[in-house]
Amino acid sequence: MSFEIVTVPCREDNYAYLVHADGKTALVDAPETAPLKKALADRGWSLDEIWITHHHDDHTIAVADLRSGAVVRGAKADEYRLPELDVAHEDEDTFEFAGREVSVVDVSGHTVGHIAFYMAAEKAAFTADSLMALGCGRVFEGTFDQMWASLSKLAALPSETMIYSGHEYTAANGRFAATIEPENPELKARLERVAAARATGQATVPSQLSEELATNPFLRAGLASVKSSLNMPDANDAEVFAEIRRRKDSF
Ligand code: ZN
Ligand code: FE
Repeated sequence: MSFEIVTVPCREDNYAYLVHADGKTALVDAPETAPLKKALADRGWSLDEIWITHHHDDHTIAVADLRSGAVVRGAKADEYRLPELDVAHEDEDTFEFAGREVSVVDVSGHTVGHIAFYMAAEKAAFTADSLMALGCGRVFEGTFDQMWASLSKLAALPSETMIYSGHEYTAANGRFAATIEPENPELKARLERVAAARATGQATVPSQLSEELATNPFLRAGLASVKSSLNMPDANDAEVFAEIRRRKDSF
C-alpha cells in the first residue's frame, strides 16, 4: 500500500500535483507540459487520470499534451469550456482511485464550476484557486457569498487536512494578512517560516488546514476580533469576508 503526492512547480508560480497510489498516477491540474513530463519520466510513471479543478488556462493548457489514455475528470458545470471530459462530476460525487475514495466538492467563487478533490483517508484536499496558503483566489465569476460558502466548506474539513493549492502566492498573501491581523502571533511565526522557505526556493504548499484556520484572514472573517478591527462588529461573516477580499484586490 503505497501513497505519495509529488508537488510539481510549473510556469511562473503554479503548482500541479501527482497523486501516486499503488502504481496508479493521477495529475491534479495541467499548467505546463515539460515539467510534468519530466516529473513523470524521472519516476517512470504514466498518467492514469487527470483531475481538473477549473477552466483557467494555467490549470488546463497541458491536458491535451498529457492526456493520452488518461481518464480526464472535471466539473459538469464547466464541461462546455474545459478540455473534453471522460467523467463530468457534480458536487458531492465520489469516485475511486487506486482503491481510495475521492470526493468532489463544489467550491465556486473564483470561477463558477471550480471544484476541489478531497481524499479523506489520505487527509488531502486539492483546492487550486479556492482556498490557498494564507489566501484565496480572487472572486472573478461567483459572488462573495458563494466564495465564503465554499471556503466555509473547506474550513469544516478535519483540521489536520493538508491543503494542496494552485499557486506560490504565500509571501504576498502574508504581507496582506499582516494588515488584517498585525498582532496575530501565529501569523507572525508563519510569516517567518514562509520567508525562510522562499529564501531557499522551497514551496510553501501544502499547508495544514489548522494553520490556515489560525492565520488565513479569509477563513477568519467570522471572528469577533477581526470584525471589530475592521470596524464591522455587527456585520455578518460573509460581509466581512467580502470586505477583506475587496481590500486584497486593491492591496
Ligand atoms: Zn484560476
Ligand atoms: Fe490559477
